[in-house]
Amino acid sequence: MAYAYDDQNIFAKILRGEIPNDTVLETEHTLAFRDIAPKAPDHVLVIPKGTYVTLDHFCAEASDAEIVDFNRAVAQVCKMIGAEPGHGGEGFRAISNAGENGVQEVPHFHMHILAGRPLGPMLL
Ligand code: C5P
Repeated sequence: MAYAYDDQNIFAKILRGEIPNDTVLETEHTLAFRDIAPKAPDHVLVIPKGTYVTLDHFCAEASDAEIVDFNRAVAQVCKMIGAEPGHGGEGFRAISNAGENGVQEVPHFHMHILAGRPLGPMLL
């Protein structure tokens, strides 16, 4: 089944400038902004500007340029919040919820970057 993108989702509205956001980084294909309800001292959402619903949708259908840009933006965000384990930072967790079982609230692909405190073991 093909992915149906809802252009009324909240991140689509943020990308169109209809709703404010606390931008951390903007590149050609990617936007990163602070989560409105942070679950850690640093909680940043990284989203592609393209209309992808989930991580697998993005990985399957985004262009190489979009994928590289997104991944470089994730790295840049980790650097900006000082969380890079290889450069003196204390680490982070990257999570992407997808679909019903993943309890995805906003149907525009996003990566949560959580940092700034010990995050504990993954709950499965
Ligand atoms: O992965 P999931 O779809 O459940 O997460 C959506 C996230 O988007 C939540 O963490 C929520 O706090 C965040 N959000 C936001 N700004 C909005 C609406 C939701 O940062 N305007």
